[in-house]
Amino acid sequence: MDKGKRAALAALIVAVACAGAWALSPRRAPEGPGVGSPSSGDRTEAISFTMGTVARIVAEGPGAEAAVAGALEELDRLSLLFDRFRPYGDVWALNAAGGEWVEVTPEVLELIEEAVRLAELSGGAFDPTIAPVIDLWGFVEVGAQPEEDGHEHSRAPGSAPTRMAGTEPPDPQELETVLKRVGYRRIEVDPDRGRARVGTGQTIDLGAIAKGYGVDRAAQLLKERGIVRGLVDLGGDIYALGTRADGSPWRLGIRHPRQDGALLGILRVSDAAVATSGDYERYFEHEGVRYSHIVDPRTGWPARELVSVTVVAPSGVWADALATAVFVLGKEEGLALLESLPGVEGIVVDAGLQVAMTSGLEGKLELLLTPAGESK
Ligand code: AMP
Ligand code: MG
Repeated sequence: MDKGKRAALAALIVAVACAGAWALSPRRAPEGPGVGSPSSGDRTEAISFTMGTVARIVAEGPGAEAAVAGALEELDRLSLLFDRFRPYGDVWALNAAGGEWVEVTPEVLELIEEAVRLAELSGGAFDPTIAPVIDLWGFVEVGAQPEEDGHEHSRAPGSAPTRMAGTEPPDPQELETVLKRVGYRRIEVDPDRGRARVGTGQTIDLGAIAKGYGVDRAAQLLKERGIVRGLVDLGGDIYALGTRADGSPWRLGIRHPRQDGALLGILRVSDAAVATSGDYERYFEHEGVRYSHIVDPRTGWPARELVSVTVVAPSGVWADALATAVFVLGKEEGLALLESLPGVEGIVVDAGLQVAMTSGLEGKLELLLTPAGESK
């Protein structure tokens, strides 16, 4: 197993090891690249590298193996569709079109529409046109090389942070100039003609919600094939389908943002999506300050109030986008936004490792932190 996968398996959210549940553990990963399916009876568990991360799918029931294979194939297809760096791909074409209309695949159109909706919902805290600012800060991995299996392996969350191209904050004037290119309101979608366009000079990047979309599609495909029990995990973006075999909810561990391998708490969920955004995935330090990869579109500077945000939502797209948005909004505004949305809950951790959560999580979250923020 290559290093990228091994690192990724210590994932941001891990399913907690307990009877009848599943755990992300490097020891249980298959040897070699590609898909592994340690399966027994009607239970299939497969791991693959897709959508820039380690995907792990568990399904139980008749036909589980074929259903999981189909879901992984779909993730590979979506991964190509949403990649803004793939020459002549839909997103690349949109960004290269200089503000002209471009016909795009229905899935791309759908995700752009969702992205705009979530940008509106979050008051612009989540903004799919933030890419030029991210690039200027250098929140881009260095040294990502294609490995033996021909894929480029970016690091999935959970291990030592990826080395970023950036080393210090950008020049303020340059930042101001680049920030002018950001603004989701200039994205236009024309569903009747299957086309979209972005403002001149804008760059759309669906990276902050594409994994959420993938989780939804994979879960939907499993359901369509009659699977009623399973988990889809894309490097920490999770959909928990149904319950565990004994009828109890799935138990998902939330990573401690400052203690490697430790958990902050355990969430009980069924038929819901969960996503975490943290400041420990992609960051650099300059003069003792940590600058991490989630940027406030209002200022162009990395958000610094929170260190970890986990969102539970009816869909992966919502969980993914809202985790990023709440990270930007901070505790008060962020939790207020989550409270206002039906079926959505969340947990935020501030820089002092103090935890706060929405009211609906009572009884569903088992906190494993001491008052000092240490993992118990
Ligand atoms: P996530 O890990 O889902 O929170 O997504 C983080 C990624 O989304 C970053 O690596 C950036 O590429 C991008 N991003 C950063 N800030 C924002 C933002 N405010 N809105 C949308 N995408 C963002
Ligand atoms: Mg996100």
